[in-house]
Amino acid sequence: MKIAFIGLGNMGGPMAINLIKAGHSVKAFDLSQDSLAKVQADGGQVAASAQEAVQGAEAVVTMLPASQHVEGLFLGSGNLLASIAKGTLVIDSSTIAAATSQKVAKAAEAAGIDFIDAPVSGGTGGAIAGTLTFMVGGSDAALERARPLLEKMGKNIFHAGGVGAGQTAKICNNMLLGILMIGTSEAIALGVANGLDPKVLSEIMRRSSGGNWALEVYNPYPGVQEASAATRGYTGGFGTDLMLKDLGLAQENAMTVKASTPLGGMARAIYAAHSIAGHGGEDFASIIKMLRKLA
Ligand code: NAD
Repeated sequence: MKIAFIGLGNMGGPMAINLIKAGHSVKAFDLSQDSLAKVQADGGQVAASAQEAVQGAEAVVTMLPASQHVEGLFLGSGNLLASIAKGTLVIDSSTIAAATSQKVAKAAEAAGIDFIDAPVSGGTGGAIAGTLTFMVGGSDAALERARPLLEKMGKNIFHAGGVGAGQTAKICNNMLLGILMIGTSEAIALGVANGLDPKVLSEIMRRSSGGNWALEVYNPYPGVQEASAATRGYTGGFGTDLMLKDLGLAQENAMTVKASTPLGGMARAIYAAHSIAGHGGEDFASIIKMLRKLA
């Protein structure tokens, strides 16, 4: 299949590479030349613009930071929808507001283009391994069209409901993840302050009732897990500012539906303080720096 892939960052890059490995022809566009170079080295073609990338594409995949990037790309000054052929499938895997997905989907439908929101969970490790979880919002027919591509990038594919439902599932999950990472960091910091070995304590909690995804594959304490962002100086994972965005989306949504999300609100405030202190570009597991006594 001929695929246009736009947004080749920490997640989009390895996702595009998995599509290439599966035998698809991928034409990539990103504002960053470094990101494009990585995909090119793995057999992808590089386009000079998003408009050029979508020429002749049967499917378009986008993996951009936030709502304004997705809305700007499809509906803004570049008006990418106008360059996409009728009948094309668009899969947006960015984590954005459900309302933005619905706005873009409505414009896509008017242009005869199938659109699904398909945000992911599983981190950069899952993107590289092709084991992501996709949370899809859209019609059954559009999901079935997308499924063969999603299966090359992920292991679990859930149909959450109509357009925007994937985004709603995603912000519920990430609100929980944000809270869990703070809780995990607090617990490890407390143990270390008492002289416990962070590796031993992490293993005890991982196999006990406190076990969670952070302890399994994303330990926030440097050196506990070789492949974790913490061990490589909190680089290249899921940025603090992206987590802050997701917690903001959860709070906006909670206000709309009058839900009570006190820990989600507190987690947003804690990541905001961490971002203001200069850690916005670091992986979100660096939140432990706020809680851990530095040597
Ligand atoms: P990233 O910042 O590493 O990558 C985003 C890429 O988009 C960058 O390379 C940037 O140059 C590019 N970009 C921005 N605007 C563009 C435009 N108009 N045209 C072309 N390229 C453009 O971010 P990421 O970590 O890959 O995350 C992408 C999305 O996936 C976010 O919505 C994030 O919340 C979500 N997500 C991330 C993770 C993770 O672990 N990193 C996990 C699940 C979901």
